[in-house]
Amino acid sequence: MPANRPFDLAVVGAGVVGLACALAAAKRGKRVVVIDRDAQANGASVRNFGFITVTGQARGDMWVRAGRSADVWAEIAAEAGIPVLHRGLLLAARRPESVAVLEAFLRTEMGAECRLLDAEDVQRNHAEAATPELLAALWSPHELRVESREAIPRLAAWLEARHGVSFLRETAVLAVETSKLVTTRGEIEAEAIAVCPGDDLVSLFADRIAAHGVTRCKLQMLRLADPGFRLSAGVMSDLGLARYAGYAALPEAEALRGRLEIEQPEHLKNGVHLIAVQSGDGSLVVGDSHHYAATPDPFACEAVDGLILDEFETVFGRKAPRVLERWTGTYASAPDRTVVIDTPAPGVRLVMVTTGAGASTGFALGEEVAADLFGGARP
Ligand SMILES: Cc1cc2nc3c(=O)[nH]c(=O)nc-3n(C[C@H](O)[C@H](O)[C@H](O)COP(=O)(O)OP(=O)(O)OC[C@H]3O[C@@H](n4cnc5c(N)ncnc54)[C@H](O)[C@@H]3O)c2cc1C
Repeated sequence: MPANRPFDLAVVGAGVVGLACALAAAKRGKRVVVIDRDAQANGASVRNFGFITVTGQARGDMWVRAGRSADVWAEIAAEAGIPVLHRGLLLAARRPESVAVLEAFLRTEMGAECRLLDAEDVQRNHAEAATPELLAALWSPHELRVESREAIPRLAAWLEARHGVSFLRETAVLAVETSKLVTTRGEIEAEAIAVCPGDDLVSLFADRIAAHGVTRCKLQMLRLADPGFRLSAGVMSDLGLARYAGYAALPEAEALRGRLEIEQPEHLKNGVHLIAVQSGDGSLVVGDSHHYAATPDPFACEAVDGLILDEFETVFGRKAPRVLERWTGTYASAPDRTVVIDTPAPGVRLVMVTTGAGASTGFALGEEVAADLFGGARP
């Protein structure tokens, strides 16, 4: 790619947020280049569950963004060769306080198309999660699951082939100003620039990022061998109700939190809650935990994995299958905001998802950024 060709949009970062900005601009007929320092995607976007969630996202903008993003995933998946491995969410509740949260959730606008299942419904339709402790479960139809480590490279390849997006990899962006990027391979000109650095908080616009109070969150993840059953949906549990803002911000969640503090204090202390999703080969991706630091250590703690597996065994009522892989991932995190969209210079946007939801909300965010930079309506 000729590095000095002027583009309409240059995107820094080939994670899901950068690719989403590229897609939204390309759909407007813009000429786009995406620049990333790595040879292939290696950040949060390929380390996550690939669980595109709507239900449970923070009420308001995030929930709306998640709905729109799930629609975009569904629209492009087949064309981009990205299999949707399963759909929907089953949130299995084993405490009366959890059922109260689910009932309150269903009374909000966020409960649209969701249902409360009793233990018999779960036994009939989701037998894998039917245990004697289960009281009820929330069923949501809105979620999708993709295998991120395959989906993100395919999304990039499709953007290149179908939308003519250029990629410049193994190239670090050293500085950005209006209409110009300085990279390790020379300068690039672009009318507009979207900086989507994931959890790199220091290379570009460090002062702006610090002013938003952004730090980093480390998560532990596991891949378990095929358990011999097929998940009918992504599965979560009571712990998720105390963590995901769409439920946790409801007043009814307070009683649940109090009970969890007594019954599962170590899980809460380590930010452990359960998500279990399934891959094409039957293996399960299971997590996760949350530990915050400017530079989180890279070590996966066995005791924390133990807490995740303990919740898995309780929810599925069986011994966890063999662990096939363990990894950690990090994402940008802010205490009081879910996204940062900043304007550090005219024509330049800094775009970060500052909660663990970039796969679920990135496409909508990309559309917002493209509308902001180039004008016109969002889809
Ligand atoms: C373990 C884990 C599980 C998660 N599960 C989910 C989930 O199931 N659902 C969900 O919605 N979200 C989930 N998330 C959150 C989601 O993965 C992130 O919000 C999202 O991937 C962030 O995307 P991004 O493009 O901003 O960042 P990244 O994927 O980190 O990409 C940023 C890219 O920018 C590049 N870059 C940065 N600075 C420069 C520079 N100066 N020059 C060149 N390149 C640069 C990096 O190399 C990187 O490739 C999870 C996150 C983790 C870690």
